[in-house]
Amino acid sequence: MDMKNILIINAGSSSLKYQLIDIDNESVIAKGLCERIGIDGSVLGYKSNKGNTEIRRDMKNHEDAIKMVLDVLVDEKVGVIPDMSGIAAVGHRVVHGGEKFSESVLIDDDVIKAIEDCIPLGPLHNPANLMGIAGCRAVMPKVPMVAVFDTAWGQSMAKETYMYGLAYEAYEKYGIRRYGFHGTSHRYVTQRALKLLGTDKAKVITCHLGNGSSVSCSKDGRCVDTSMGLTPLEGLPMGTRCGNIDPAIVPYLMKRADMSAEQVDAYMNKKSGMFGISGVSSDFRDLWAAANEGNERAKLALSMFALAVKKYIGSYAAEMNGVDAIVFTAGIGENDRGVRELVLKDMDFLGIDVDFEYNQSCPRGEEVELTKKGSKVRVFVIPTDEEMAIARDTAALAR
Ligand code: ADP
Repeated sequence: MDMKNILIINAGSSSLKYQLIDIDNESVIAKGLCERIGIDGSVLGYKSNKGNTEIRRDMKNHEDAIKMVLDVLVDEKVGVIPDMSGIAAVGHRVVHGGEKFSESVLIDDDVIKAIEDCIPLGPLHNPANLMGIAGCRAVMPKVPMVAVFDTAWGQSMAKETYMYGLAYEAYEKYGIRRYGFHGTSHRYVTQRALKLLGTDKAKVITCHLGNGSSVSCSKDGRCVDTSMGLTPLEGLPMGTRCGNIDPAIVPYLMKRADMSAEQVDAYMNKKSGMFGISGVSSDFRDLWAAANEGNERAKLALSMFALAVKKYIGSYAAEMNGVDAIVFTAGIGENDRGVRELVLKDMDFLGIDVDFEYNQSCPRGEEVELTKKGSKVRVFVIPTDEEMAIARDTAALAR
């Protein structure tokens, strides 16, 4: 079967991101975002080389959204394919696969059931992902679909790595363990790093630093450890998430500040991190602007973030008995030269010889190496592309 065009769907509770990818030459033919699904004022955004458009029309649910996406893809003026047969397969981003999925799979009834079973682990995301899948199934029942899981990458972690120091029954009864997220991104940039190193056998640390941030490490392309846990709250302090804290702070806040469990959860996920520490913004561009004007809390937030990344790199290098390459990716990792400098300075003990001038002047949006020739550990900036990773898996499985 000709596997030319793959539709990638990333469904949120009231939004749906989509891309149509030509897998033959790995190019994006069209992409966009449906917003306010199920809310009044629904709108579809669309970009392609045939033209861009914005369509305001009610979308009751994800099925309506997918219908609109398909309509615009075959539209006379801005459409990029003659008819629906131009879509060979659909790849869905699914956030939580629990312990059931260690790789991408073709979607059938059993897979849908298994994703439903993981809803307690991903209460915000999995129901939305399932709506995206159901919507596509209703509109194009014959087209093969593939699920690509954010948690699949972390499934190769050893038990002593993914277990928490809680009573063992917490794992057995409730599935409480470290799963990790951003797996598709860590896997994609790790594979690119192995290409750049010219070997399959290497120890790589990947820093996915964006709105949500995580660090992961891998040996020979398989995840050894990753900083996010049962939920994406663990690990680095992030845009609005606190990252690692003393777990006893939770009951302390509940008593001391008279907060409910939901309030503490929201406090840690939405009011903390860079935003909460700085009191300025969760966006690193705003933080640097404020820091440059002398804002002490913005400086503090930036230093705390960089220190946390540095500590993960150090611990992962110890865990793997060395590291061959460190990768920076995602919004901050790809763009924020200042954060990269803070992380990488005073790390020569590891055998990293960074060209800090080049770090400041290197081009954006392409793969670059920040280390000097001969550096024992090499440092790369590699733009992530989760959609392309999903498209590759989808094409491979649907074939
Ligand atoms: P996500 O996909 O998790 O929404 P991204 O990976 O796109 O996030 O990262 C978004 C973040 O990247 C922004 O909040 C901002 O902090 C940071 N960012 C984006 N562009 C820049 C830039 N030019 N300089 C510094 N930080 C940037």
